[in-house]
Amino acid sequence: MSFAELNLHASIQKAISVCGYATPTPIQAEAIPQALSGRDLIASAQTGTGKTAAFIIPALERLAKPGPAGIGPRVLVLTPTRELAAQVADSVARYGRFLRMRYGSIVGGMPYPDQVRLLRQPVDLIVATPGRLIDHLERGRIDLSRVELLVLDEADRMLDMGFTDAVDQIAAATPKKRQTLLFTATMDDPMARLAGRLLKDPSRIAISSPKENHDSIEQRMHLTDNLGHKHKMLHHLLEDPTITQAIIFSATKRDADTLARDLYDRGLSAAALHGDMTQGARTRTLTNLRRGKVRFLVATDVAARGLDINGISHVINFDLPRAAEDYVHRIGRTGRAGATGVAISFVSPADAVYLQRIQRYTGQTVQMHTIPGLEPVSTLPVPGRGGNGAGKGRRPFAAGGQRRQGAGAGKGGAAPKSKAGYQQRGRSQR
Ligand code: AMP
Repeated sequence: MSFAELNLHASIQKAISVCGYATPTPIQAEAIPQALSGRDLIASAQTGTGKTAAFIIPALERLAKPGPAGIGPRVLVLTPTRELAAQVADSVARYGRFLRMRYGSIVGGMPYPDQVRLLRQPVDLIVATPGRLIDHLERGRIDLSRVELLVLDEADRMLDMGFTDAVDQIAAATPKKRQTLLFTATMDDPMARLAGRLLKDPSRIAISSPKENHDSIEQRMHLTDNLGHKHKMLHHLLEDPTITQAIIFSATKRDADTLARDLYDRGLSAAALHGDMTQGARTRTLTNLRRGKVRFLVATDVAARGLDINGISHVINFDLPRAAEDYVHRIGRTGRAGATGVAISFVSPADAVYLQRIQRYTGQTVQMHTIPGLEPVSTLPVPGRGGNGAGKGRRPFAAGGQRRQGAGAGKGGAAPKSKAGYQQRGRSQR
């Protein structure tokens, strides 16, 4: 299929040509005609599939035609994070550059006066994060009665972040006869219920499983004994000259800060990215990363969600995520735009159950690797057998062939032990 077959408005077609896109991606080929027909749509697609254009192009098609009088937005796109909102707004600018229309962002962490000014005049398209939009809605500063198209981007993440009520409240302030497009990487019960409340007779599109999506990424796991062991392995791995740029994921914001500072103190160009930083600091860090001034970004899941940066050669999970979806999102930060990438995960014995979930979700068994001189003394228990991995009845984890190199050297051997033992962290800190 070609873009010409989609019969797009000449100005949009021209903008796409300027972007150099030869053909629509699979999600675009399926979603754009459906969305143009006016139907509601549920699309399962991850970042990197071209999903943003799949909803922005139909949105712009609407805006190319005159709408009713009024000042509120005709198209409203909700995203979970400010970073994703910025990327969506970027796409609006790119694909809408030859159209006459007004758009803007309403996101947290940005000054109110600019947003109030934006909302005082007629605006065609708004990209927003739910929290700040609710703020304006409750103060009567935004009128959503003109919304023709509501898009929920990365809706699964919005639910994870606790925005369910906010999304419902925002949708309730828009006309019932609107069109709704829902994009999500996963479809579970809460998502199905949300879709049931907000969409009418939707068509469904599912594009590529995570497995197919990550063929360009080499995945490795390292079994770790404790926190000190992890640090030693990280320092060793970061000496690899094939790392162009890496994102290192930590479980908590505080760990991200500590780890970034530790690497920086060791003379590496490292910086942290997490949700407690001001918007200005986050933007600066991302600019430095894009310009290559930062080589190692230590990030939390929320902050790194949806980051579209080419040139990330390695992703390192300093802490293994508990949700399989997060694993897939994390490793998807590398191997982008036709490049290959490496994803390395540290797995502690306490992570066995999460590792099992990840391998089940991705349908892939990831090889365990060891670093000479830094071999672990621990073994991975089989989850669900032998008392949840603690103590007796341990058996090596069946999947992945994690057996130590030089088997027999084990038990209390030369592997490093640190004073700081591995600490399991509570969910609330994440
Ligand atoms: P997304 O999944 O929306 O984050 O898009 C991933 C990347 O694909 C972005 O950098 C887009 O600029 C790019 N892209 C989107 N559509 C196409 C297309 N039809 N052909 C080539 N690249 C595209």
